[in-house]
Amino acid sequence: MKQQNILITAGDGIGPEVMGEVKKIIFFLNAEGMTNITTTERLIGGASYDAHGVPVTDETIEIARKSDCVLLGAVGGTKWDGVDYNLRPEAGLLKIRKDLELFANLRPAIVFDALIDASTLKPEIVKGLDILIVRELTGGVYFGEPRGIFNLPNGERQGVNTQVYTTSEIHRVGRVAFELARKRQGRVTSCEKANVMESGKLWREEMTKLHEEYKDVQLSHMYADNCAMQLLKNPRQFDVIVTDNLFGDILSDEASMLTGSLGMLPSASLGARDENGHQNALYEPVHGSAPDIAGQGKANPMAAILSFAMALRFSLDHGTIADHIEASARAVLNNGIRTGDIMAAGCKQVSTTEMGDALINEMKTRLKKAA
Ligand code: NAD
Repeated sequence: MKQQNILITAGDGIGPEVMGEVKKIIFFLNAEGMTNITTTERLIGGASYDAHGVPVTDETIEIARKSDCVLLGAVGGTKWDGVDYNLRPEAGLLKIRKDLELFANLRPAIVFDALIDASTLKPEIVKGLDILIVRELTGGVYFGEPRGIFNLPNGERQGVNTQVYTTSEIHRVGRVAFELARKRQGRVTSCEKANVMESGKLWREEMTKLHEEYKDVQLSHMYADNCAMQLLKNPRQFDVIVTDNLFGDILSDEASMLTGSLGMLPSASLGARDENGHQNALYEPVHGSAPDIAGQGKANPMAAILSFAMALRFSLDHGTIADHIEASARAVLNNGIRTGDIMAAGCKQVSTTEMGDALINEMKTRLKKAA
């Protein structure tokens, strides 16, 4: 079996704890002969700042570039509050995303039947929910020039940010959305504000042009404000939603909260595929370093584990193993095994490591049954 190389950057707070459970699963898969994964570990965030004076080193970025993918835990913590912005733990994350040119951020919002009561919406609205939001990550108003706070001749101050998109930026993220939709229900909803923004008008026109290459996928357009409403009204109408950086930031947070459980949410950030088929990719839980529970064995490792499942599917060509992990995660929850954050009456509360063990046991049972 071809050897695959993963860079693991566990980071700060609960990052190393949740990543410990991912490492156990990698060890298990290798031992079963299902994968041939080699891991390299490096520091990131505050841990890297403490050791090297920067939140991510150039050496780490180089290893990331050469790896099949990067798994990241979480960064940040109050310990580094006094550090300059460009050296803060979060700056390490922004730098690795930027240097690897990860322009497409994938955020699934899946409601597990066992956790349906964790959603603030009615069960009949969110039951079976499975949305994938593809957010453009490296362009748009967060990066556009001119930007700044300017002093006007009349004595007023003016804050300026500029929303800019080019056809190539729209096409590359659009392609990611269309290709992912092909592996799902085959529907893409493209969101912008074409009614009031030129950049939105261009986005809509270019998505429509690009659709010519993906006629097997159904494309619809929606204004981003309507999408925000529809996500609450009838979220199951969506399959893949593709949108820009700003709207994606807001809509992906909104969609993820339909599931009601931060400790369960995975994400992926992908770059372009080069001529040799290599694609930079980083997988990380949506949650942060949770300093309030760090070091106490309370963290839910599922978001990190489900992020690894995404890596298996999108970067490592092991979609069947990813399905296997996701089905085992469902079964563990159905069996009433819960970390504190998703605890419910009648369930058994377990620690971070016990949750990882329960998942591996479930995988073993399923493999035995299948044999
Ligand atoms: P957070 O996601 O770390 O925590 C929010 C709340 O959710 C906390 O009460 C925490 O205990 C709980 N929580 C989060 N993940 C959990 C898990 N896996 N299991 C159980 N409970 C969990 O967000 P925050 O408190 O706003 O930020 C803390 C630090 O993390 C800050 O320094 C922030 O900058 C950083 N942060 C990093 C990332 C990242 O690394 N991608 C993302 C968000 C925040």
